[in-house]
Amino acid sequence: MSDPLVILVNLGRIDGQLRSIEGKLRDLARELDALGKRKAVELDAFQRRKDEHEQLRRRAHRTATEVDELDGRVRGYQAKLDTEIISYKEMGSLREQIIILSSQIDALAEESLGLMEEAEQDSQTLDEERRQLEQRLARLEQEERKVQERRHALEDERVAQLEERNEVAAQLPTHLLDHYERLREQLADPLAAVEAQSCGGCHLRLSETTVERVRSEREVVTCENCSRFLYWSAR
Ligand SMILES: [Zn+2]
Repeated sequence: MSDPLVILVNLGRIDGQLRSIEGKLRDLARELDALGKRKAVELDAFQRRKDEHEQLRRRAHRTATEVDELDGRVRGYQAKLDTEIISYKEMGSLREQIIILSSQIDALAEESLGLMEEAEQDSQTLDEERRQLEQRLARLEQEERKVQERRHALEDERVAQLEERNEVAAQLPTHLLDHYERLREQLADPLAAVEAQSCGGCHLRLSETTVERVRSEREVVTCENCSRFLYWSAR
């Protein structure tokens, strides 16, 4: 095999590896994106859960305040009955009010107690849910760190391959490198093996002369149809 062809094959190998590294890096970027989204979904759901709990607490608090207010009103009416000189009619109306309010207070106080118990229990459930969430988040973050490590290793590998590529490319005559780069802009594989008298890239039949020139391995030969660099044995 001629020296430039050996270099071209080497360059093709490096570019193949670079393509594979870049593909893996894209996969890892997608993985990181998915992990980030899963974290956001977890955090959103927990925020909604906390909001619900807060609403329950506020309802319990509101009901307790309402009980206190009604209680205050009853005490006010009672004080008026006990201390003030009022008409018999007014007295009757106040007593009636007290009876109505007292039954409202009983119902509300029961509701308030129920809500406070519910809020207390929900607070414990929420604590447990927070612990579970933190565990899930920690696992997701651990996964993220692993992906980041793989990403950094691949990035290092990519830099090393790029350096090697520059060294290899520098050994190639300019016209061959230019042709190679032009091919690479359009094709994943700028090199092709001769397979059964045909180009392994475009699969079109090659002339006898071209096949012979490739077989002799004394010069760099390109496909008459697709312009790929041709080499003899599959590798
Ligand atoms: Zn071809």
